[in-house]
Amino acid sequence: MELYSGYINKLIEELAALPGIGSKSAQRLAFHLINMPQDKVNRLANTIVEAKANVRYCKECFTLTDKDVCPVCANRNRNHKMIMVVENTRDLAAYEKTGRYEGVYHVLHGAISPMLGIGPGDIKLKELMERLQGDVEEVIIATNSSLEGETTAMYISKMIKPTGIKVTRIASGVPVGGDLEYIDEVTLLRALEGRVEL
Ligand code: ZN
Repeated sequence: MELYSGYINKLIEELAALPGIGSKSAQRLAFHLINMPQDKVNRLANTIVEAKANVRYCKECFTLTDKDVCPVCANRNRNHKMIMVVENTRDLAAYEKTGRYEGVYHVLHGAISPMLGIGPGDIKLKELMERLQGDVEEVIIATNSSLEGETTAMYISKMIKPTGIKVTRIASGVPVGGDLEYIDEVTLLRALEGRVEL
């Protein structure tokens, strides 16, 4: 027997498939949406469709942007010979908020995790190596200090070493298992300034 309308069940199912949303939250959200005024529901639905249709990867650093090239890569005053490798666009935003980093970025969109079955081919590593064919002086590895982040850092370091390009890792002032986006700007800057050559 169906307790609710099939439409509501479908909505709950879709919401529950989102990360961090359990079945209880999905139910609460579904009923909230059903009770919302029609124009608000339309606006939310359109916002999702439009964001999906317009947001893409930057051609250079692979961060999420609505332009061909993101504002950081498009800025000729940035040091394009210095590339900071981060796991995701949120980490890039955390470093940008400090306002003190003058290089550019490379967004991996994940980290190597044998446990989750995420290998080197599943993140933007090939794209990083392609960028290194150009004029690059330093690659700063700023992946998280989680097991996955450290595994990824080691992999990248080994991959780049033969090219002779300087590889550095941000200092371990960043707490272990710490997600970069939750760390305050002072700690981020200290980690950047105290980076060590690998
Ligand atoms: Zn970019």
